Amino acid sequence: MSKKQFKAESKRLLDMMINSIYTHQEIFLRELISNASDAIDKLAYLALTDQNVGLNREDFAIDLRVDKKLGLLTVSDNGIGMSKEEMEQNLGTIAKSGSLQFKQELDKDQSDVDIIGQFGVGFYSAFMVADTVTVLSKKYGQEEAWMWQSSGAEGYTVTPCEKTTVGTEVILKLKADTEGEKYSRFLEQHQLQSLVKKYSDYIRYPIRMELEKSRRKEVPESEQSEDKAPEWETYTELSTLNSMVPVWLKAKKDVTEEEYDGFYKDKFFDYEKPLAHIPISVEGAVTYKALLYIPAKAPYDFYTKDFKKGLQLYSSGVMIMEHCEDLIPDYFRFVRGVVDTADLSLNISREMLQHNRQLSIISGNLEKKIKQELLNMQKEHREDYEKFFTAFGRQLKYGVVSDYGMHKEALQDLLLFWSAKNQKLVTLKEYVEAMPEEKKHIYFASGESNARLAQLPQYQRLQEKGFDVLFMTEDVDEFVPRTLVNYLEKDFRNLTTDDLDLSTEDEKKAAEAAAADWKDDLEFLKTALEGKIVRAEVSADLGSHPVCLVPEGGMSFEMEKYFKRMNPDMALPLEKVLRINPEHPVVQKLKGMITSDPEKAKQYAQVLYAQGLILADLPIEDAQAYTDLICGLL
Ligand code: ADP
Repeated sequence: MSKKQFKAESKRLLDMMINSIYTHQEIFLRELISNASDAIDKLAYLALTDQNVGLNREDFAIDLRVDKKLGLLTVSDNGIGMSKEEMEQNLGTIAKSGSLQFKQELDKDQSDVDIIGQFGVGFYSAFMVADTVTVLSKKYGQEEAWMWQSSGAEGYTVTPCEKTTVGTEVILKLKADTEGEKYSRFLEQHQLQSLVKKYSDYIRYPIRMELEKSRRKEVPESEQSEDKAPEWETYTELSTLNSMVPVWLKAKKDVTEEEYDGFYKDKFFDYEKPLAHIPISVEGAVTYKALLYIPAKAPYDFYTKDFKKGLQLYSSGVMIMEHCEDLIPDYFRFVRGVVDTADLSLNISREMLQHNRQLSIISGNLEKKIKQELLNMQKEHREDYEKFFTAFGRQLKYGVVSDYGMHKEALQDLLLFWSAKNQKLVTLKEYVEAMPEEKKHIYFASGESNARLAQLPQYQRLQEKGFDVLFMTEDVDEFVPRTLVNYLEKDFRNLTTDDLDLSTEDEKKAAEAAAADWKDDLEFLKTALEGKIVRAEVSADLGSHPVCLVPEGGMSFEMEKYFKRMNPDMALPLEKVLRINPEHPVVQKLKGMITSDPEKAKQYAQVLYAQGLILADLPIEDAQAYTDLICGLL
């Protein structure tokens, strides 16, 4: 019988496991037990609707067995089992995202072996402690049973075998003890007991083992006497090692921070501890318990279609659904957690759940709790909140602009933006509270980077006046003020497109006069820059800059770029307006030149136009012509 090869990436992970010098080898047991528990979950779920399963909730168990003579440790379950194909698929490949993510992290930093202990590295971790791994399995509903066997990286075999009961048995032939490593410790009862307590206590099925115990020997009454020392005998008894109470069902006061964090890492395959946990216990119209987490970091696939949002849904101890999407609104899709309610009818189909009234009550409650928790964090633990926002702020902003702004009220106070004045992230509320009462506008600018935005002429003008500006550098950003329109009765003003409302009445009058004075020159510029601008106008908002370019029609250049990225064919270039600063010496010089040397004035106009492009972070359309022009002038 020929050996089959592992898939390439699996082989790499496997190699790592085999050669692991990792000190937390013990987590292999947690991984095998967790797989057994998942397999039981699946059959328990089937049993709700399928009489033929013939097992009740109480019949499910995970059994540990040791054979000290042969050095074998066996983890068996009466879960769903695996078919031949599933064995090949599941045990020959790394399927799960947790493992893949783990692999990616490793690629980043090969040396950090410690993360092995934090991850769901799964089945392969068995090879950290075992020479040979044998898996016997019989899938529910199938006649034949199969044996998968591997002694490491050179491959595996799958052959038919005898197994009467449905479920899976994983048999580890432990490595021989060495000077530094005592693998045989995993055959010791107290060691296994304490590992189960440590890592798998909350598993909701009994993890059982024949424990050696001792008791006082029963002595017939006739033989009893005062001066005879009591005799002891040993016996074995099938005992349950775990308390089986999942963390989310325990009272808050009975759970330590470490337990909450540990549960999260195990269950959701994160190696970083969460920023917050939210234990929830509700009795009323719907009775349920929930345990939610705010992760510290976005999973690598978070902003892709691959990411699966949703909470785990349990009903009376049976997992109904791994990712129940309806429990969580899209903008909070980063939240991980578990919901457990007895109020759902157990044989409800997964499709029916979607329109379930109880579920929608729960999800409404959860949404409020999550928001409250985030606001608390924003107030009490600002650093954590900024970390959170760096990871998931984009999702919240998408939430604001999605569904025609339906959720903007709910989300606006959770947003943070970069305050140019304070050089830190601020909430909209903080921005408004810091502005002079009579001011009516929230100023913002969007562009590639804070450094670029700080160079905007309009920004410099506002800076001179002492006003703050929110800098927006993510693609979704500019749509946020557009959707919000205003906040606490202050409207949003885009630095590059909107009237900044900075001038006093006198200044306005002066500007009008200037405009009249410049009328012919503006026409000249328009003609000189034919095809490039639609108009030239005088502006008092340019600070120390001679010119700037603004888009005509309310849309910003940043949006134009965004749409162009989305759909290059559809994007129409925005028409541009050249604004000039009549106070600027260069501009004044240009004015004189328009009458004295119009040919040269045309060239100056080209140069100033190019400056406008640069400041607006737009490409120079014809770089060759531009450099020729400059060289000519020099
Ligand atoms: P993960 O459990 O994280 O998906 P593993 O490498 O631990 O990754 O396991 C791979 C797959 O093998 C599981 O997803 C499951 O489909 C299958 N599997 C592992 N152990 C068992 C078991 N005891 N019973 C049934 N299927 C199992």
